Amino acid sequence: MSGVNARDNPIRGPGTSLAQWQASRALQAVPTITAQLLLPHDGRLVVVAPHPDDEVLMCGGLLSRFAGQEEQLLLVSVTDGEGSHPCSLTWPASRLRQARPLESAHALERLGLHLPGLDWRRLGLPDTQVPALEGALTEQLQGLLRPGDRVLTTWRHDAHCDHDAVGRACAEAARRCDARLMEIPVWAWHWAEPEDRRLPWLRARKLMLDPQCLALKRHAIAAHTSQLSPDATTGAAPVLSPAALARLLQPFELIFL
Ligand SMILES: [Zn+2]
Repeated sequence: MSGVNARDNPIRGPGTSLAQWQASRALQAVPTITAQLLLPHDGRLVVVAPHPDDEVLMCGGLLSRFAGQEEQLLLVSVTDGEGSHPCSLTWPASRLRQARPLESAHALERLGLHLPGLDWRRLGLPDTQVPALEGALTEQLQGLLRPGDRVLTTWRHDAHCDHDAVGRACAEAARRCDARLMEIPVWAWHWAEPEDRRLPWLRARKLMLDPQCLALKRHAIAAHTSQLSPDATTGAAPVLSPAALARLLQPFELIFL
């Protein structure tokens, strides 16, 4: 989720609160969808995460359903998330580049996934620089996708440069490969307003998470320790604030079909 230059960052202030979202008529009106309808055949789910943690923030609940069926899953980590703590002495890029993929591994294990059985590709693109490499990323994704794949990634209008570029690259690669794209908002929960017409409500569906599944997702997100603490060396607040976590741990995953 991380890696926004301060001057470009649309994430200012506390953002739209969980209580405001809970009162959203537009959100209340979104129909539900089952995992069976989302993934109606034996083809793969391909999850493309701009940064390590986006996979669990986007769809940790859905991922937990693949425990024991890891062969039906492909996870693509586009960057190693080394840009989440600019100027930090505690979390220099060299440390983040090692730590954040390990945090993802721990989170996936907490979801019940058996990592040796998981096809997990790390592309190592530079954090915050994905837009400049969008064409090359599209070609890399094209080489990984198969017809019939369900591709799930960040919404291309999420207002984070990497999230948007990965969303666009996935959309184009899916089109070329005859795969189906699904997008999930991450930052939009912060900057969008409860009845925001910029959100594609007509494409939205809710995948409901039962309490046990939601608890797994919460436990998995907690593995991303680098994102959860303030940084004493820069004075920066946690990348994932308590308010952000509350928004991201609603009892459903919102998916744009
Ligand atoms: Zn991200």
